[in-house]
Amino acid sequence: MSDEYIENNQYNIGHICTKRQCALGRADKTAMRWIDAHGARVDYSFSDLDRESNRFANVLSDLGVQSGDIFFTYLPKMPEQFFAFLGALKVQAICGTMFSNFGEDALLDRLGDSGAKGVITKKSLLRKISSIRSRLPALKFIIVADGDTVASEGVLGLKDLMNAASAEFETPLTSAETPSVLHYTSGSTGKPKGVLHRHGSIINQNMTTREVLGLTLDDVFWCTADQGWVTGTSYGIIGPWSLGVTQVHYGGGYDAREWMNLLARERISVWYSAPTALRMLMREDEAIFSEADLSHLRHVFSVGEPLNPEVIHWARRLLKRDIYDTWFQTETGAIMISNRPGLDVRPGSMGKQVAGIEPAIIAECGAHLSDGEQGNLCLKSGWPSLFITYLNNDAVYRQKFQHGYYHTGDTARRDADGYYWFMGRSDDVINTAGHLVSPFEVESALLEVEEVAESGVVGVPDELLYEKVVAFISLHERYTPSSELEIKIRLRVSNKVSTVATPQEIIFCPVIPKNKSGKIMRRVLKARYMGEDPGDTSTMEI
Ligand code: ATP
Ligand code: MG
Repeated sequence: MSDEYIENNQYNIGHICTKRQCALGRADKTAMRWIDAHGARVDYSFSDLDRESNRFANVLSDLGVQSGDIFFTYLPKMPEQFFAFLGALKVQAICGTMFSNFGEDALLDRLGDSGAKGVITKKSLLRKISSIRSRLPALKFIIVADGDTVASEGVLGLKDLMNAASAEFETPLTSAETPSVLHYTSGSTGKPKGVLHRHGSIINQNMTTREVLGLTLDDVFWCTADQGWVTGTSYGIIGPWSLGVTQVHYGGGYDAREWMNLLARERISVWYSAPTALRMLMREDEAIFSEADLSHLRHVFSVGEPLNPEVIHWARRLLKRDIYDTWFQTETGAIMISNRPGLDVRPGSMGKQVAGIEPAIIAECGAHLSDGEQGNLCLKSGWPSLFITYLNNDAVYRQKFQHGYYHTGDTARRDADGYYWFMGRSDDVINTAGHLVSPFEVESALLEVEEVAESGVVGVPDELLYEKVVAFISLHERYTPSSELEIKIRLRVSNKVSTVATPQEIIFCPVIPKNKSGKIMRRVLKARYMGEDPGDTSTMEI
């Protein structure tokens, strides 16, 4: 990261995203165009962002929050969330973020495990925290972004606090090693783990925002991710603002027509979304896309799950653009492997490593595998945005490292040209009759069947095959299951992937369970099939 952003070894993320931008002459530039669910807009400049986050930093300081204390946001997308996040980082608190649709169990897990000292929420969500408060001895205060102070209960109204707080704050000098952001993982494979990052992560976030997303000072960027997961902070806050880029933040939910209007009206030039949202768009009336003026849109990126080739073909046809898939994890803090402008997209491949990252495909025995062979996707450890621990679980953290490599828990292969192809999470890859089958490849083939809206493919124990392939499928509304359709589906997978990958069983269901960041929860499908307890479902959407 250039000296332009880091001055005198000040790595504080809150500082770099606000005050430093002002010092670089961007004080009056729009940092955030906030658009609420009803379409009302408010622009906040970098100096607004600096002032409001300073106020929030003073609020926290006055409440006794100190370096290393844990503070959480529990809010839907709204301007106060961004002020709180940056303000908390300015006082060197560790800032965690939680999805606003979390229930009590999910809250208790995170606030309890981390020993959080404070949280900011909304009036409508307060009840959920209040009902578990007696089980959170470390929790000293709750700030209500849109409410009044109830002194007796330690509930504080933000407005009063902010009015009383100074707009000046001198951010203490913060080293790259200082802990910064805490994200509990999506919980796709088990109980969410508290992934702790450091302020130096901004180096990778800044670099990949420039070199992968290709953002420049003239761009208008929209990242649809909620701030509850890592994409929402690494690329919905830190990366773009560390570069002085204008971001649109939209408080409404998914609505294809509104999204297309937004892209056109706000002249969004780079858009970062996720496969679930893109797959939902694929189901919409095609006219929505031909009517929208997307002439300002330079690039579209995706993250969070494998991007099915069918989605890329759809985008080429209807959006007249490629979609660039990017791969990373909560633990990696920033994009590690990706497609990007200037690199030919191979549909189904997640692209190549970014600068400074050294991936390797490693076998169970520890041997480094050659091109074409599939194995554990590992990354040579040591880059700045690599997590520093799993909170309260250092033993599991250490297990992830072997011989200088971080083991991601994903299975992949590299082709002869250096492109990486995702196979699945190590736990999800199916071993049937001695062959390894990628659930993603089967799901991608299924998506090409006209009637199929979504699918989730799992391996379940089988006496003969060791594991058999079971496909859960939801159909587009106008179709109904039939034995002819089952045959068509089997034939497609057998022709497209292989005969061993052909589902032994097809189960039609109305919806495929997903978590709050849109990932298919295969372990829930598997448990459903086996009649077992699905385990922790605190992050499940439906
Ligand atoms: P948990 O670790 O609690 O099970 P999680 O792994 O889903 O949850 P995240 O850190 O949000 O939590 O997700 C990272 C994972 O998402 C990756 O390990 C990978 O399995 C998947 N993923 C992310 N981006 C991509 C992508 N572009 N292609 C394929 N898989 C992806
Ligand atoms: Mg994970």
